[in-house]
Amino acid sequence: MASQCTTRALTGAAVPWKLRPCLLSRVAPQSTMQYPRWFGSCWALAAVLLLVAQARAVSADAGMDLGPLAEEYVRLVLAIGEHDANMVDAYYGPPEWRQDARDRKRSLESLDSDAGHLADRLAKAAAPDDLSALRRRALGEQLASIRARLAILRGAKLPFDEEARRIYGVSPPHHDDDFYRAIHRQLDAVVPGEGPLRDRMAAFKKMFVVPRDRIHDVIDPAILACRDATLRHIALPAGENFRIELVTDKPWGAYNWFQGNYQSLIEVNVSLPFYANQAARLMCHEGYPGHHVLNSLLEQKLVKDRGWMEYTVYPLYSSESLLAEGTADFGFSLVFPGDTSWQWERDRLYPVAGIDPALAEVRFRVNELNKSLGYAAIDAARAYLDGDRSRDQTIAWLREFTFATREEAERSVRFYETYRSYVVNYRLGEDLVRQYIDKVAGEDPDARWKAFASLLSSPPVVSDLARGTTLDHLK
Ligand SMILES: [Zn+2]
Repeated sequence: MASQCTTRALTGAAVPWKLRPCLLSRVAPQSTMQYPRWFGSCWALAAVLLLVAQARAVSADAGMDLGPLAEEYVRLVLAIGEHDANMVDAYYGPPEWRQDARDRKRSLESLDSDAGHLADRLAKAAAPDDLSALRRRALGEQLASIRARLAILRGAKLPFDEEARRIYGVSPPHHDDDFYRAIHRQLDAVVPGEGPLRDRMAAFKKMFVVPRDRIHDVIDPAILACRDATLRHIALPAGENFRIELVTDKPWGAYNWFQGNYQSLIEVNVSLPFYANQAARLMCHEGYPGHHVLNSLLEQKLVKDRGWMEYTVYPLYSSESLLAEGTADFGFSLVFPGDTSWQWERDRLYPVAGIDPALAEVRFRVNELNKSLGYAAIDAARAYLDGDRSRDQTIAWLREFTFATREEAERSVRFYETYRSYVVNYRLGEDLVRQYIDKVAGEDPDARWKAFASLLSSPPVVSDLARGTTLDHLK
């Protein structure tokens, strides 16, 4: 989902290319559970077969113990979903597993106990090669996240920072008001107009509001540009597709509901004004190379190619979300490297939205400075959820420090109330991904795309991502 976005009521409209047929029927995952057992009667033949088996068994042996544990994990997440409506962000495994979770609704205490036993067995499970060790580590991190969420569901009151650390695997940074005031001073020199910065920012934002009947006119070219750039660098599974619907009255700006079989439903919340300068960032985030691509590649590479069923479920409150939101936000800078986004918006976007193309460059400069204001969501959510600021004080603080309208600030608070420390995954996640890509790929654009695609196709291990960076405040 995207925490920041905006707009207002339309429903059910969809982009034209949603009609491309899905070319893939559901493919049964390849079994990784079978291991040749024909040793004994002829040792010479057995020796030859053993060599063949070993060659095949890099992934097969790895799955021997982890497969059943992965299924238990999926069933556990589905069972928690019966208590926590937001827990299961996506599920496309066997329908009978979900039905079973519904039929045998287990208590949180029982689920907590099961999760503990599963963690114990996972720690002892065989991992005879690097691949299975990676699989086990990723599953272990996810399970640790799940157990922290279970503790909260059972009534544990965790401070914001501890909750973020236990669920998402990161220690969110703290920024004081002076940090944001320093950004305001830079904005003061860039934002056009006369008078106090707050008034100028309000007037400036209004210049980019897209009339309601033109929202699809900006969303459609934006997602096409994001998709075209992504397809030039990442081979996507045949038949991948998405549809977009405009919705209202949600605590988020937009949401990708992954359906399996490489299909996404992208909902855009249009209850608040929709700004043209958000269109491309939003479509990169929810679509290409963001959530839709991540989910499609995980399904293709891990579920269908390897039979790793744990990836048929995506628990929202888990460390996978740090990678998901971080890569989704980072994708925009791959599609539009450097300052190329404002030229594209000037030529392709603002004319169809009825916005003065001459504003594109200054909009870009303001966006760049606004990036650091993205950390304000973490500081605002922490202060509110830890009880250091009231709801009204938090709304006032967001209005003062992020230039949000009252309605935007109220929706942000609603987001914190609903998803709690989930806000750490956006700005911080993007910085982690950027520093990881910088480290492993340098500045070459093709190498950056390649490293990014590799990140999206691998088991999400957040501790590795953090270790691969030089982000000082995570040390
Ligand atoms: Zn998102």
